[in-house]
Amino acid sequence: MPTVPFLDFSREYDEIGSEMLAAAETVLSSGDYILGNQVEAFERDFAEYVDADHGIGVNSGSDALNLALDAVDIEAGDEVILPAHTFVSTADAVVHNGGIPVFVDIDPETYTIDPSSVERNLTEDTAAIIAVHLYGQPADMDPLLELAREHDLAIVEDASQAHGATYKNRPVGDIGDVGCFSLYPTKNLGAYGDAGIAVTSDDELAEYLRMAREYGSPRKYRYEFVGSNSRLDEFQAAFLDEKLEYLDEFNQRRRDCAAQYDSLLESVVTPTVADDVSHVYHLYVVQTPHRDALREHLSESGVQTLIHYPTPIHQQPAYEDIGRTGDLSVTERTADRILSLPMHPWCRSDEIEYIAALIEEFEA
Ligand SMILES: *Cc1c(COP(=O)(O)O)cnc(C)c1O
Repeated sequence: MPTVPFLDFSREYDEIGSEMLAAAETVLSSGDYILGNQVEAFERDFAEYVDADHGIGVNSGSDALNLALDAVDIEAGDEVILPAHTFVSTADAVVHNGGIPVFVDIDPETYTIDPSSVERNLTEDTAAIIAVHLYGQPADMDPLLELAREHDLAIVEDASQAHGATYKNRPVGDIGDVGCFSLYPTKNLGAYGDAGIAVTSDDELAEYLRMAREYGSPRKYRYEFVGSNSRLDEFQAAFLDEKLEYLDEFNQRRRDCAAQYDSLLESVVTPTVADDVSHVYHLYVVQTPHRDALREHLSESGVQTLIHYPTPIHQQPAYEDIGRTGDLSVTERTADRILSLPMHPWCRSDEIEYIAALIEEFEA
């Protein structure tokens, strides 16, 4: 019986391992391990890739979000609107800054934040919106930008799942005020450890972020505000700068895998791609009312699947007494029906055929 893992890093190593070893050697022999040439080069190249003026390397996507909300001045009592259907650290960043997370619903087809739900939950205390480009699909930014203009709100993009995705031909990340990217190993652009980057074209925000990731320090032994240590390291930057060269090709392979799934699957709801966006399929998520049974059926046949995410944030124990929620009926229904199928740049067509055949033969 074949086994199909959700993601297989050995295939990545087979393809680009020798380049990564060379990059590691370059850093190791340079004697420069913190905020050196590699970080500078990656920040410049990644910012250019997303058409932003500045990139600020940090040590995780979570920290990019923490520092971004700090940079746009989220303070105690400020409400920050975000989807309940996202990874937990999108919400954690609000709480770490003293803000109040306001959980809103998603669009039932694209799974991204529903702008009408945002509008219904605006109050005098609303200070920012976090748009999450979930699964690799850009959120619908224009209505959010419009609300932000009308109500003087900051927009932070959580682009941790959407490196290289575009909204109306603009790369995500620099559409709002600050864009946050996780570079965790499994992401479309992934390091070999923890890493992240924030991007912006606002010079002041960039300067603040640069200080914030290094103790609030503009230069040695001078501290303008209380910061922390959240630097991207030279090794990860060197790996990432090499891998950035492959990002478009790897995203295209993901799209090819998605197209093959789309063409073979009939008995489950396949992903909907909005008009005017390019989806980079960080995840390939299908929907079925028989999710748990289907998952079991696939597992018995050696196919590993995951659920992103089984429990919305407002229903997590950590958030029992935190935040405010609007009507989250789409989010709650979706969480019980979604299933993420194997998706990565090395998916083979025979594997996708095998998975699709298992799904089509399955009878609930
Ligand atoms: C991965 C991810 C994060 C967190 O990134 P880390 O680098 O693991 O801290 C935040 N938001 C979303 C949507 C993510 O997918």
